[in-house]
Amino acid sequence: MSETIIGIDLGTTNSEVAIVEQGKVKIIEHNGQKILPSFVGIDQDDKVIVGEQARKQYLLYPERTVKSIKRLMGQDAQVNLAGKSFTPQEISAIILKTLKQTAEQYLGKSVSKAVITVPAYFSDAQRQATREAGEIAGLEVLRMINEPTAAALSYGAAQDQAKKMLVYDLGGGTFDVSVVNVESGVVEVLSSHGDNYLGGDDFDQQIINFLLDHIKNTYQIDASSDIKAMARIARTAENAKLALSNQPFVQIQEEYLLELQGSPIHLSVELSRHEYEDMIEEYINATLDAVHIALKGAKTASSGIDEIILVGGSTRTPCIRERLFNEFGFEPHAEVDPDLCVSMGAAIQAAMIAGEKVDTVLVDVTPYTYGTSALGILNGESYPFTFVPVIHKNSTLPISKTEAFTTSYDGQEFVDINIYQGEQPDALNNTKIGDFQVTGLKDVKAGNVITLTLELDLNGILHVSAREKYSGMEKSITIKNALSHFEGEKLEKAKQRVTSMFGQMDTRLFDEDKSEPEQADTPEIKQARELINKAEKLLDQVSSEDKEDISELVKTINNLIESGDLQGLDKPTMQLSDIIYYLES
Ligand code: AMP
Repeated sequence: MSETIIGIDLGTTNSEVAIVEQGKVKIIEHNGQKILPSFVGIDQDDKVIVGEQARKQYLLYPERTVKSIKRLMGQDAQVNLAGKSFTPQEISAIILKTLKQTAEQYLGKSVSKAVITVPAYFSDAQRQATREAGEIAGLEVLRMINEPTAAALSYGAAQDQAKKMLVYDLGGGTFDVSVVNVESGVVEVLSSHGDNYLGGDDFDQQIINFLLDHIKNTYQIDASSDIKAMARIARTAENAKLALSNQPFVQIQEEYLLELQGSPIHLSVELSRHEYEDMIEEYINATLDAVHIALKGAKTASSGIDEIILVGGSTRTPCIRERLFNEFGFEPHAEVDPDLCVSMGAAIQAAMIAGEKVDTVLVDVTPYTYGTSALGILNGESYPFTFVPVIHKNSTLPISKTEAFTTSYDGQEFVDINIYQGEQPDALNNTKIGDFQVTGLKDVKAGNVITLTLELDLNGILHVSAREKYSGMEKSITIKNALSHFEGEKLEKAKQRVTSMFGQMDTRLFDEDKSEPEQADTPEIKQARELINKAEKLLDQVSSEDKEDISELVKTINNLIESGDLQGLDKPTMQLSDIIYYLES
């Protein structure tokens, strides 16, 4: 039996894993849930926790929890988790390894190969970092496909009729838009555009700023330096945002948020959908600008689009749907699940690679232009960093293009080659993604021809080679983000680190041991019991009013634990934690 290749959507907010099984796509559930929140934490017992458990911990112990790590992928960054330092690749690897194990448990065999989706607009460095995260997790990343392409694949694979679709993908941290042609099983991306730093997190931030301003204006307190209060403000901001997708007003309430001269501050403020829409208008405008660039790239007008597919949780925001309706004159497609279609597409691509019978062909494009710099004319003047495009935006992948350059003086022994990604005529306004030097050139007159070949593979990763024509000397590299790159010993060390952390993982992350008769406390119950202990120790020192509140909450929590109602446990636990936090500070 051939090895199963899994399809993974590694999202800013949520992640999923899927496979094709007997010709059908199946999202594999992790503890009964299709969606794994992209949160990683280290609990009080120094065990790794991932997903829902880590998401809950974020409120109580934000310094022990990481969220939205995808926003740091490809950067030379370190994140602090319970006093230890991690790279974004390592944190992402922990999420990937959890999904790998989820799939292994379902399949009953080991899994070592995956297709992982990335935002179409992810840069070379971000793609490399994603591949490295896969390697650290023990997964060979056979292909990275673009998220809107995966969504189109999951939808288009079932289409008979020819259609031109616009895929509008707004998640927690990234925005992508693609124009895709679907015809007789061929899913062909015509153009892609986007923004790697635009998503629901930015919408949350607008509400957070509004709340911080409100607190400052009302109480003259700056809450932004209080990490615990900020975790609660962030939670309440996101909840308010979600509520405003369904209702015109929301009352934002957080009790015992802060303390002012010995008295508690309870946050209570109303936010209307109208006010919220004003806060995010600029972001929505930016997405529509990107839509127009994608349409132009596909040489299509709005009227040429037959269907709109919405991908990503943030597309549930009503004003986005309204703006798209106004632009295109019809409602976006509602049948496709915006949370799941990306991982479904990844699974289809994985099945295609595994050679399973899938009647679909996928053709994707690059969302960026790649090139080098050379002496040229810019704005009518001679300029040494004029951008020389070699591979143009929206070229079909894979692609290889060669450009010839000449040495500029006699006996020139080396040439510096800079590689850029972007659309600006001044190379310095584009993103430099690497450089290298071709040395040991033949001692000949100026005009020695150097050919530069850029090759963009199906994963959107760039390989570069240069050749001196005179001697045939050749040099090639894969552009790498030198600072954060994982290979050799560094990769092995990261693998061992993540593997050993999994050795200490809370095994309740996987509900494998169903036969255990004596159930240990679940993490939720354990957390609640810890809080009750803490609260009881404080009872002697508090006012009778607080005592009453605490006793009431302890009673409620104990009743819920007894009845096994873990869902209901969330709210009173949080309330108790808020009171303890207030009393302790
Ligand atoms: P994704 O990265 O696709 O999982 O999308 C996650 C983002 O979608 C987060 O910023 C969520 O807050 C946001 N989101 C989820 N549901 C809704 C909703 N009903 N209304 C607005 N935003 C939402």
